[in-house]
Amino acid sequence: MADCIFCKIAKGEIKGTIVHEDDDMIAFKDIQPQAPVHILIIPKRHISGLTTIEKGDELLVGKIVALAKSLAHRFSFSECGFRLVANSGPDAGQAVDHLHFHLLGGRKFTWPPG
Ligand code: AMP
Ligand code: ZN
Repeated sequence: MADCIFCKIAKGEIKGTIVHEDDDMIAFKDIQPQAPVHILIIPKRHISGLTTIEKGDELLVGKIVALAKSLAHRFSFSECGFRLVANSGPDAGQAVDHLHFHLLGGRKFTWPPG
């Protein structure tokens, strides 16, 4: 997707603070962090969001969740707790139409969210 900001980060055309990269996905620091550690995990391939995941993407989504687990360990909040969030659509405030999971850690979170 030519005008997608996260595709540009994945291709290295826009600078991001990258904390993980492999063939399928990339993880980078959110530019407006909502917690001491706020990382976005995205597939490199453009998928617009949760509603456009297709059959065949199950392994990719599983890899994203497994990466969240390992990053939580690496950033030392695996035991005390963290949150993994994917906003979908306008009611949830999805601002970037490229599938992304927010990994937030380093503080307490309330439930239910606002
Ligand atoms: P969402 O509202 O779930 O679509 O989240 C989009 C997230 O992308 C927000 O938390 C933004 O702060 C973040 N964001 C937007 N542009 C960038 C960027 N260039 N680098 C890092 N994070 C970004
Ligand atoms: Zn994209």
